[in-house]
Amino acid sequence: MNQGLLNRVARLSPSFHRCNFASVVVFSPNRPTTIVRKISSSTFQRQCQQEEFEKSSLSPRKLKIVRYPHPSLRRINSDVTLDEIKDGSIVDLAREMLEMMYESNGVGLAAPQVGINKRLIVYNQTGLPEEAGEEVILINPKIVEFGRRTEIDTEGCLSIPGLEGDVQRSTWIKMEATILPRLTGGEEENGIRKITGWEARIFQHEFDHLEGTLFIDKLDDIDLQEGKPILDQLEKEFRKVE
Ligand SMILES: [Zn+2]
Repeated sequence: MNQGLLNRVARLSPSFHRCNFASVVVFSPNRPTTIVRKISSSTFQRQCQQEEFEKSSLSPRKLKIVRYPHPSLRRINSDVTLDEIKDGSIVDLAREMLEMMYESNGVGLAAPQVGINKRLIVYNQTGLPEEAGEEVILINPKIVEFGRRTEIDTEGCLSIPGLEGDVQRSTWIKMEATILPRLTGGEEENGIRKITGWEARIFQHEFDHLEGTLFIDKLDDIDLQEGKPILDQLEKEFRKVE
């Protein structure tokens, strides 16, 4: 899940704006969710595009975030095995995914987004690497129960850069997963947890990735129509690379 240029601005001001291609969102450092208004400032957009470009030229890693319409985003994702947990390989992968997520100014990332079709998601609802205590690594998560109340909020996705849209989600969910500690040495923990608000939204977005579902599948016709040029461009770029 994408939070645009949130992190950089967040460090400068206690209340700040996130820019993206279609909207301005006011965040508080603790609960970065309040949407204020949509804008169409071309200068603002150009600055954002430039910053996104500069970020994309960061030194390459072993893994790479794949972009729509990469087939990895639609494949079936298999369960992480006990061996993969015990030998530490999944912790290494989760750590690398967290680093990539921070570099891309994201708040969440699922393994299929780095081309690995395993049921693993990571997130940090603050989006701030210095808030490592907020990092969550979930293996083989399942949704046990959805809250009946829903709300609509704007989402983006690191695999669909430049596009955002309103998505309806439950305000809370109960999930069951193997939860890994951030640092090795700790024991993984299994259990059911209820999560709410912004964290519940991030979780549901990332969980959808494990089901091969993208947030664009949940947009209304107007948002989808607005985003179509961006999707067309991503498809064109993908065909060029493949
Ligand atoms: Zn996503």
